[in-house]
Amino acid sequence: MKKIEISINGNKIEVPSNYTILEAARENGYRIPTLCHDDRLKPSGACRMCVVEVEGARSLVTSCSTPVRAGMVVKTNSDRVVNSRKTTLELLWADHNYDCLTCNKAGNCDLQDLCYEHDIDPLDGPYIKYSSNHVDKTNEFYIFDEDKCILCGKCVRACSELEGVGAITFSGRGHHTHISHPFEKEMLLSDCVSCGTCVSVCPTGALMEKTNAKFRNWDIDKKVKTTCTYCGVGCQLELVVHDNKVVRIDAPADSINKGITCVKGKFGYKFIDRDDRLKMPLIRKKGKLVESSWDEAYDLIASKMTSTLENYGPDSFAALSSARCTNEENYILQKLFRGVIKTNNVDHCARL
Ligand code: SF4
Ligand code: SF4
Ligand code: SF4
Repeated sequence: MKKIEISINGNKIEVPSNYTILEAARENGYRIPTLCHDDRLKPSGACRMCVVEVEGARSLVTSCSTPVRAGMVVKTNSDRVVNSRKTTLELLWADHNYDCLTCNKAGNCDLQDLCYEHDIDPLDGPYIKYSSNHVDKTNEFYIFDEDKCILCGKCVRACSELEGVGAITFSGRGHHTHISHPFEKEMLLSDCVSCGTCVSVCPTGALMEKTNAKFRNWDIDKKVKTTCTYCGVGCQLELVVHDNKVVRIDAPADSINKGITCVKGKFGYKFIDRDDRLKMPLIRKKGKLVESSWDEAYDLIASKMTSTLENYGPDSFAALSSARCTNEENYILQKLFRGVIKTNNVDHCARL
């Protein structure tokens, strides 16, 4: 791509001509705060946090959606820019149910961080407070709290552009603009497939996982990168661990799955700590399932398979393997059945 020269905060830099100002700034070490931007989504310029001053432009421009042009002179941190960001944050606060004391998002909230950085006083803003008192808890896995929504639109775009579902949209006008599901119905009745992508991208606590775990984000012990075991796609996940328990699943945006998961990968982890989880093999003895050792279970399986093979032949067997296993495990299973037992009765759940 052809390179052009622009100036940011008095320094001349060369950047590809198809860049936005935000891309040019970030790649060259200039921080511009954003709330609605996500590299995976089309820029929308909705939150106005990324505004910058461009010489010759009548008003401040949104850096996420403005392309660079040769000779452009940009200021990312002038008084005018910082004052505009402060006003934007004050307006967001006026529309916000700020309960950072008890909000599960505290410590992991872009809005909280930016208000702290810009010295916003939550109790002394100049704007009239507005509250809708609308909280939707009908989804099994997450809640939507409208009073914590800053209308950045990331959830709407993620649902449509990343997930291809389009279960949510903007509705209403002016002060009554809000995120809604079709026909203003509750979340449960929408097309939502509960993938949780909107929850992952939300910069505030408006969309939050339902969790029984009590933890604060600054108390998280570690994040463990892992591969989801639910299917053969192999999405990359981060297990968020507190007090030796998985309390949340994050999906990093820079992973192979671009931070997108399905409902199982994002929310299907609570079985890990369930008391009734099966941890040992069970053998039916006198009509009752009894816990056994692995050795005992394997011996039983081997003896039953051997006697069945002798009495009924290879085609009395069939193997059904699983998308939850690795390619290597599936390969070994078909090898055992074709090579050792000598039957071609082999199939796989993913073919269904
Ligand atoms: S969403 Fe963020 S700013 Fe709002 S109450 Fe929760 S932590 Fe505070
Ligand atoms: S959970 Fe997934 S499908 Fe449902 S609204 Fe969010 S992004 Fe859309
Ligand atoms: S719910 Fe979250 S992601 Fe969606 S518009 Fe509101 S703040 Fe943005």
